[in-house]
Amino acid sequence: MIDLHTVRAAWANRFNSDGREKLIKDYVVLLNQVVWQRQASFFAAAVLAALYFDPLWTFSTYALVVVTEMLDMMLARKSKAWDGLDPVVGRQILKGIAFNTILSAVAISVFSITIAVQQTSGGHFTPLFFLFSASLFAAMYNSQMVSILLLRLSIYGGAFLYIALLDVYRYFPPLTSPVWLEFFTIIFVLYFIVDISAKFYRGYQDRLHQMKLLEEENERTKAALEIKSQFLSTVSHELRTPLTSIIGGLDLLNNGVLGEVPENLKPVIGIATKNGHRLASLIDDLLDLQKIEAGEIVFHLKPIDADDMVAEAVESTIGYANKVGIQVVTVPCVEECRFMGDRSRMIQVMNNLLSNALKFSSQGGSVTVRVENLGTRIRILVEDEGVGIPNGAKDRVFGRFSQVDSSDIRKVGGTGLGLNITKQIVERHNGTIDYVSELGVGSTFFIEFDRLTDTGGACAGAELVADAANRNTTGLTTS
Ligand code: ADP
Repeated sequence: MIDLHTVRAAWANRFNSDGREKLIKDYVVLLNQVVWQRQASFFAAAVLAALYFDPLWTFSTYALVVVTEMLDMMLARKSKAWDGLDPVVGRQILKGIAFNTILSAVAISVFSITIAVQQTSGGHFTPLFFLFSASLFAAMYNSQMVSILLLRLSIYGGAFLYIALLDVYRYFPPLTSPVWLEFFTIIFVLYFIVDISAKFYRGYQDRLHQMKLLEEENERTKAALEIKSQFLSTVSHELRTPLTSIIGGLDLLNNGVLGEVPENLKPVIGIATKNGHRLASLIDDLLDLQKIEAGEIVFHLKPIDADDMVAEAVESTIGYANKVGIQVVTVPCVEECRFMGDRSRMIQVMNNLLSNALKFSSQGGSVTVRVENLGTRIRILVEDEGVGIPNGAKDRVFGRFSQVDSSDIRKVGGTGLGLNITKQIVERHNGTIDYVSELGVGSTFFIEFDRLTDTGGACAGAELVADAANRNTTGLTTS
């Protein structure tokens, strides 16, 4: 069976094979961009001419110009609505443009010639200047469609020549007369207009070519990114599965489930376990990053009590905190601080902030986690007394694979991915993340979310998140 849509598309392709749709749309857009500017100059010219020459003729030709302008506006609307698929509409628009061009060029030419005819002495500067401006306008704004430009310029060219020959015909002056001087000047002006039109036309073609190259480059980049992200995802998955069983086996060994581990093997197994966990967290980060980039991450939104969430996150890092000798203090929210979020992702965010705070602190220091009620928002702060962050490092702190101190003498490990992922998760929850820090004194990282009201209704922002969830456009779901 013949698919009508395919046939239409094939016809459209034939029609557009020389990029005519783009040309038409560009032409109409440019024409419309300067419509009021053009109207103002036409009106000023008409008023000026009416003051010095026959007002009836002047306004009649001016009225014709206004009519063609209105037709142009109607064409613009039609072209805007045209999806580029129906070649019949495309041809209608093209015919309309050609018809309007003839009408408006003839109106402007008659307008100028009428003035020239009424001038019996002193040259024809005024009508020639009007014609010159109109030609320049055409050269600047009609270069997308060379046939239309040529059509308009030929009509103006005819008017130029008519005015140039008007006095030659009237007076048959000798070659030394200023009438001939004006004639030759007009020929020169005509050449100038053709030359400048060709330059604008070539400029437009160059721009089109550059755009095509950019589009091709863009397509290539997109394809390369797609391959990279597929590669990353496959490799990460392939690594993660065996790694999980390796770590599981090592954990069993460490816990003595498989029997007593000989003393001389313990350090080796310890290092293997530690590195296994590091590798697993790097792969998890890569997988998260890839999911976020591909828009595949799904957030299951539920009301979360910020104090509960903080308690859970602190509990999961307390072992590490004790190991490095840092005290973790929590300061709960004064009133109830609830917000809409994906609990496990929020714990991930808190774990990242907490582990950074612990990682960059020295033994004996303390880390404070504070929950604040800001009315319509809640703020969770993680304050440390660690090394601090120098000024101007925000891009590196939140960047991808970037660390403030990436030197070889860096004491703590890491991938430079954690805060980048954290920022993306927070922002996808309609939240914000930032920090203040002073070198050698400490850092405070804080995240903010819309607060859920006491009645259980969400504040404006939280509703937004839930809305987005229901539309399922951002990978958020409510439950
Ligand atoms: P990493 O895996 O390196 O910790 P992150 O994305 O979590 O990656 O952090 C990026 C960088 O930001 C860190 O390498 C560190 O230089 C800086 N940073 C983050 N948190 C702190 C903090 N609490 N104190 C000092 N520097 C920090």
